[in-house]
Amino acid sequence: MKVQNYINGNYQNPISNQWLNNYCPANGEIYGQTPNSSKEDVEAAFQVAKTAFQKWSKTTLEERSKILIKIAELIEINLDKLAEAESEDNGKPLSLAKSVDIPRAASNFRFFGHAITQFSSESHESSGQNAINYTLRQPIGVVGCISPWNLPLYLFTWKIAPAIAAGNCVVAKPSEVTPITAYLLGDICTKAGLPKGVLNIIHGKGSTTGQAIVEHPDIKAISFTGGSKTGAQIAKIAAPLFKKLSLELGGKNPNIIFADCDYHAMLETTLRSSFSNQGQICLSGSRIFIEEALYNRFKTDFVKKTKALKVGHPRETNTVIGALVSKPHLEKVLSNIEIGKKEGTVLCGGNKITVKNYENGYYLEPTIIEISTNDCKINQEEIFGPVVTLMPFKNENEALELANNVTYGLSATLWTNNLKRTMRITHQLKAGMVWVNTWMHRDLRTPFGGVKASGIGREGGFEALRFFTESKNVCIKY
Ligand code: NDP
Repeated sequence: MKVQNYINGNYQNPISNQWLNNYCPANGEIYGQTPNSSKEDVEAAFQVAKTAFQKWSKTTLEERSKILIKIAELIEINLDKLAEAESEDNGKPLSLAKSVDIPRAASNFRFFGHAITQFSSESHESSGQNAINYTLRQPIGVVGCISPWNLPLYLFTWKIAPAIAAGNCVVAKPSEVTPITAYLLGDICTKAGLPKGVLNIIHGKGSTTGQAIVEHPDIKAISFTGGSKTGAQIAKIAAPLFKKLSLELGGKNPNIIFADCDYHAMLETTLRSSFSNQGQICLSGSRIFIEEALYNRFKTDFVKKTKALKVGHPRETNTVIGALVSKPHLEKVLSNIEIGKKEGTVLCGGNKITVKNYENGYYLEPTIIEISTNDCKINQEEIFGPVVTLMPFKNENEALELANNVTYGLSATLWTNNLKRTMRITHQLKAGMVWVNTWMHRDLRTPFGGVKASGIGREGGFEALRFFTESKNVCIKY
């Protein structure tokens, strides 16, 4: 499959005619080419987006809403095709792409299609001074959206939908590692009646195409999801250009388990929060802390259940864990496991797996490493693979200290039935999102994002619409 850029509603080759190979994680084979776009492609996309903005920013909310909801419907109609493409491109189980990734991409458009009709701004009466202030929230102009490979269409649309709902035009770049569903989205947008130039999708490397978007002097806002190092680099470039910046970055999230929790619900959810999507979710609970009284029971059951997880080809219906996204990423995760072997004890997994007939695929056993200190590399640095650590704790204070003692602060999960403890701990956890007795339970109206090295700004609900608009106060004296 040859992916093309989507500019001004048309598919086209990159100006330089340079291409990158696209690999299928399930078998390690090259199965397509992706544009290696240059600064010139980004400029071409910017110019048409700038022109489109003149009209798009003045459309009625109902018109925008109708188009966004139509895009959602077309994603749903194409669910099978998109899920197959996502699974083939990313290595994730087809069942996961069908049940989570693609439905969520549709929900993103439907949600913001409705949200924009409910969005409002403030007014402030200056009492006793015969003046009233009202705040306009106006679209910014042309904005840049850059997304990663782990939840490709899901995260790509999570940015694009609020950006266009708010009246902006977009230059967007998906990860070069997983370009296919973003490519397919172009056609869906055309069919839904999205005017030409409102959304432009440019493919290529982060260091060139992505950076050209960030460096563009007239792209006034950047919404980025990816690694913390890349986020820092983007911030360095964007800050002196005074761009609005939303950075959704890495995580090293604690999963704190108290002995009084609902054991079976906790065990099943912890399996998911550890290994779902091959552990390649920014919200994965990769540091598991268990109260001493429950430690041995949990360790025995968790290891047993993890060993039973079926690693296999993403298309096989009984596959729970598919392939990792790329060979370099598999090697990075394996090198972290080698560090883990020195820092702790591997309780299960740790090895590459050969799947029959797909010997060159990027498969890895789900891995559990027992550690005795939080102060080690595998508990401090994001691995972003099917690797978790286990460590016991004595009491609430120790659990909190372990949870917060890390540079990241994206999410945290807490398992307990003690209400007072829940209130104490949730208030003190240094994280942007906390789940209690659940994990990755998402309500799209809620603020989404992290603290510390996990980023700045919030996505979701009206927070996203605020990010993608500029507020302007108008003060009228009467
Ligand atoms: P990267 O930071 O490597 O890349 C993310 C995106 O940025 C890709 O599209 C990439 O392009 C692009 N990019 C890379 N370098 C630059 C640059 N200098 N300027 C502009 N764009 C650039 O992250 P990964 O794709 O490896 O994704 C994994 C990371 O994303 C993990 O750390 C994970 O925690 C984080 N993440 C955070 C989430 C959150 O909501 N907080 C959600 C999901 C993931 P290319 O791929 O083509 O190089």
